[in-house]
Amino acid sequence: MKTLGIIGAGQLSLFLAEAAQKLGIQTHILGDAHQSAMRVANEKFIQSEFNVENVCNFLNTCDFGTIESEFVDSNIIEQALHKAEKRVQFTPLPKSIRIAQDKLSQKELFARLHVPTPKHREVTAESLTTYFDEILWEDFPEGVVLKWAKFGYDGKGNFLLDEKEKTADAIAFCKAAFAKNIRIYAEEKVSFDAELAMIFMRTIRGELHHYPLVISQQLKGTCKIVEGPATSLGIPHRMQSDAIEIGRAVGDALLLTGVFAIEFFYSSKRGIMANEMAPRVHNSGHYTLDGAECSQFENHVRIACGQSVGSTGTNRYFAMLNLLGPEDLTLSLDSNFKLPIPISKTMSTYWYYKTELKPGRKMGHINIKANEVHELQAGINMMKLYESDLWNSLRNR
Ligand code: ADP
Repeated sequence: MKTLGIIGAGQLSLFLAEAAQKLGIQTHILGDAHQSAMRVANEKFIQSEFNVENVCNFLNTCDFGTIESEFVDSNIIEQALHKAEKRVQFTPLPKSIRIAQDKLSQKELFARLHVPTPKHREVTAESLTTYFDEILWEDFPEGVVLKWAKFGYDGKGNFLLDEKEKTADAIAFCKAAFAKNIRIYAEEKVSFDAELAMIFMRTIRGELHHYPLVISQQLKGTCKIVEGPATSLGIPHRMQSDAIEIGRAVGDALLLTGVFAIEFFYSSKRGIMANEMAPRVHNSGHYTLDGAECSQFENHVRIACGQSVGSTGTNRYFAMLNLLGPEDLTLSLDSNFKLPIPISKTMSTYWYYKTELKPGRKMGHINIKANEVHELQAGINMMKLYESDLWNSLRNR
């Protein structure tokens, strides 16, 4: 039996491991003992320190390797792969991770490939005060979103500077990042009509596959609902073909392999603009667990393990809702906590087995599929109701 090694043990790793096991592939998982994916690992590797020796020892037990997060030290993976006694096929390549994990490097790539993206400018420690006092409001009269180039997720690492009064806080935000050696850039605040996303897969031979363009709705910078296909919900078809061209250009330029995602802003005036990309399975593709013939997780495992890509055909309509910890609830939960069984058979629920419920934290998700738009809307309402009942039941425990 072949073994896939996954670096990281959160919910993305959990779904990757389940997909691998369905295909008859064992999983070895490197992460912290309490994390979600450790429940299903065939072998657990508890991460004491992420160094070349530990990663090398881990990879020596595997035939194939992958990551669940781009925020890993790609140099360590690269050196560990060189040092390993076994030839381990790693998806994506460490050099692709290196560029993709830095949003300023992504921006440089988008510019080189002529991929439309919101205007931006790096803010350096030297230019900090002059930039905010003199330049910013001329360049971006609507204000900017200040962003960490690395380690940002779910809106953490972003600061909206849309009033001059917030300047002191913005400077403090930048200084805190510089102290951690994180680069910062200011990006124009975009007036978008919708946020879109697309999941791509690129094989080792460079063939591109994709799922449909989807619409994502955010709550405080975190994805809340994904629905699609976007082109069946009012987004012009041209946007999907533009997105595919962007995916092809980015995938080819970075020599990406396996699943990757690109998030876009869309406005009817400006078309689609690439916001950011991630070289891995992505939250905007969780709907594929039910809404597609072969999920993004299975397809990633298939590519990582040298198998052919499965069908990316989807249901007529589909949606996903993230179960995000509500603002007023911080709770410890049993690691065996189970979600209530939904009343409707059309809903599929997923729980990530996290033992701390915190505001805004991704705790699980729900998928639905539908044959008509009105059913999709009814399904989304049902998911919202299920979520509010769930948090109420935990509030009243
Ligand atoms: P993360 O990597 O944390 O997901 P994003 O850059 O995607 O960070 O930002 C999270 C959300 O914040 C976006 O989905 C969008 O809703 C909002 N946002 C980010 N950048 C901008 C921008 N330039 N203009 C307007 N809204 C933005």
